Amino acid sequence: MKVAVNDIPSEGKELSFSDTAAEPRDLGPQVEAVVAAPCAQLRLERVGELITAKGTYAAELVLACSRCLGPVPLRLEGELDWAFRPLGQEDREEVELAEDELELSFYEDGQVDLTQALRDEMGLALPMAPLCRDDCSGLCPVCGKPVKQGEPCCRRNKIDPRWAKLAQLKK
Ligand SMILES: [Zn+2]
Ligand SMILES: [Zn+2]
Repeated sequence: MKVAVNDIPSEGKELSFSDTAAEPRDLGPQVEAVVAAPCAQLRLERVGELITAKGTYAAELVLACSRCLGPVPLRLEGELDWAFRPLGQEDREEVELAEDELELSFYEDGQVDLTQALRDEMGLALPMAPLCRDDCSGLCPVCGKPVKQGEPCCRRNKIDPRWAKLAQLKK
C-alpha cells in the first residue's frame, strides 16, 4: 500500500491495510508459509515533509526450524513507530538525522510505501534461528529424517544405511 503524502491531512489520518500479496520469501528466508496475511493499523501524521506512522501489526506465519526444517507456527505482532522523509534530504540533514532517535525511512515521488516498510519491519522482528522445540535434535546425519529423541535413528537402530531401504522394502 502506498499513500500519497498530499493525501495526509494536517489533522492526521487513520488507515489499515493487509499485505495479501506477501510471499514467504518477501518476509525472510526462514519463512515457509504465510497463514494470515500481515495487516497493520496505523495513524499517519504529517509535519511539513516528515511523515510519521504509529500503530500495530500482526501476521500468522510458519517458519522452518533451523535444525530439522520442521514447521514452526508463529504469530508475529508488534508495534510500529515509523518516520519517513523525502529521499534526497539526507545529506543536508545528516547531523540532524544522527541525533534523531526516530527510526527514519525515506519516500520517493511523494508516496510512502507502507507495504515495504511493514515487510522490512517483520523481517527484523523474525527470529534468525527458529526452533520447533528448544531441544530440537535436528536431522539424522545418515538418513536425513528428523531425530525424535536423543540418538539419531540410524545410530540407535544400528542399521547400516545401505540396508535401511532394503529393510523398509521387506516390511
Ligand atoms: Zn526442529
Ligand atoms: Zn536416520
